[in-house]
Amino acid sequence: MRIEHIGVAEYIENARNDPEWVSEYYSVLFERIGKVEPEINSYITLADPEKAVKNAVESAKRKTTLAGLPVAVKDNISTKGMKTTCGSRILSNYVPPYDATAVRSIKEHGGVILGKTNLDEFAMGSTTETSFYGPTRNPWDLDRVPGGSSGGSAAAVAARIAPVSLGSDTGGSVRNPASFTGTVGFKPTYGVISRYGLIAYASSLDQIGIIGLSVEDIALLLDIVSGEDPRDSTSIAYPSAKSFYSSIKDGDRYLGDFKAVLVSEMWRGVDPDVNTVLKAVIGKLESNGLEVTEISIPEIEYALPTYYIIAMAEASSNLARYSGMLFGISKDPSGVDWVKYYSRIRGIGFGREVKRRIILGSYILSEGFFDQYYLKALKIRRLLKQRLVKVYGDHGFIISPTTPITAPRLGENIDDPLKLYALDVETVVANLVGGPSISVPAGFAGGLPVGLQITGPPLSDLDMLALAYRIEEIIGSGKTHAPPLG
Ligand code: GLN
Repeated sequence: MRIEHIGVAEYIENARNDPEWVSEYYSVLFERIGKVEPEINSYITLADPEKAVKNAVESAKRKTTLAGLPVAVKDNISTKGMKTTCGSRILSNYVPPYDATAVRSIKEHGGVILGKTNLDEFAMGSTTETSFYGPTRNPWDLDRVPGGSSGGSAAAVAARIAPVSLGSDTGGSVRNPASFTGTVGFKPTYGVISRYGLIAYASSLDQIGIIGLSVEDIALLLDIVSGEDPRDSTSIAYPSAKSFYSSIKDGDRYLGDFKAVLVSEMWRGVDPDVNTVLKAVIGKLESNGLEVTEISIPEIEYALPTYYIIAMAEASSNLARYSGMLFGISKDPSGVDWVKYYSRIRGIGFGREVKRRIILGSYILSEGFFDQYYLKALKIRRLLKQRLVKVYGDHGFIISPTTPITAPRLGENIDDPLKLYALDVETVVANLVGGPSISVPAGFAGGLPVGLQITGPPLSDLDMLALAYRIEEIIGSGKTHAPPLG
């Protein structure tokens, strides 16, 4: 069996027809993991193969919705009884006593958690290099990063050692690695997937997202993990009776039914090769009926600094709970006062980037600077939202590059925080506004994947997925291209 082209849809179809096929699939999958994983380091923890197969076969026999589908889960999403480290030393021994709601839904529908994927420490980064567990490598070029912070989730799917995965997206962490690895990455409207059990980085921006090989696969899993959750008061019920999957398959929708807009500021500073690939794709979409206009939104230049001010402020507060008392690593506290004890634990437990953000975040929130930075950032966030909702109403979805460049080499960006933060210039807008955004594979530049990003107003998820599905029909799905591995 070759599993390179088996995504969620193909898996479910095969597994429901023949539970025996499931055990064959899993043995090929684990064999491939054995070969490929040492090269890319996409997992921090893997499920026990025997237990996973047993669960999956049983689930397929019971004809559950997911029929034993293996799902890889980013290691900042809580899994009962399975280590959840956030890519940090401080949580290196943390085993959650409960499942995140998204994980619980997957299990309840007969899915199997295949493993926990590598990430930038506490999801802070864009390259998966700040993980305590070593960097993940890009399956398309092992000298390059897979993007981040959900780099493990994207690399595992790209390398075909997971058919689909969950990630988290605070400022682009699902879409950026999807674009660098030739996969589809979707961040829904804030609230569409419950954040219960997602270990917080910046709560007003955090959202669980999905990485897969096709838009269809994303919609299939979204039907399972979306929904209002009493355990997350910011979660919402998507206002549509129809399933995401069946509505994108609706044959009555054409490209000509959608409108899209290019924001000139989002094309500034984009690598010329990336620009060429994307402009060619957009030309193709236009000739297939998509109406595309171009406008300028000067305020969008403020999105990146606004994002980083809010994200760091929220992070400094969220990460205050890691003190070595309740969970994670601890030391003998005798003989030192609690201030010394906490700083010792935090000193050894957190990496450089996390410390940098805690320090900057505390500074941003401190007296005298609160008004100057934090309050100002909140105001700009509100203005941006108002402006963009109007743009969406008048001109349709914003189409842009997902990232201004293709995957950088390992080590290239990590020592210069400003260079690292600049990778997020296209993606943070969706998190500030709270709307959905997706990155779809659009081709290759210099042998490396390029992603096309669509961003829309809150609750346009269904339309956005339908548009992405139509785009995929025209430009081809990432499913057909597997990196040369294994
Ligand atoms: N790269 C961005 C940051 O470091 C986004 C991270 C994310 O979405 N989790 O904040």
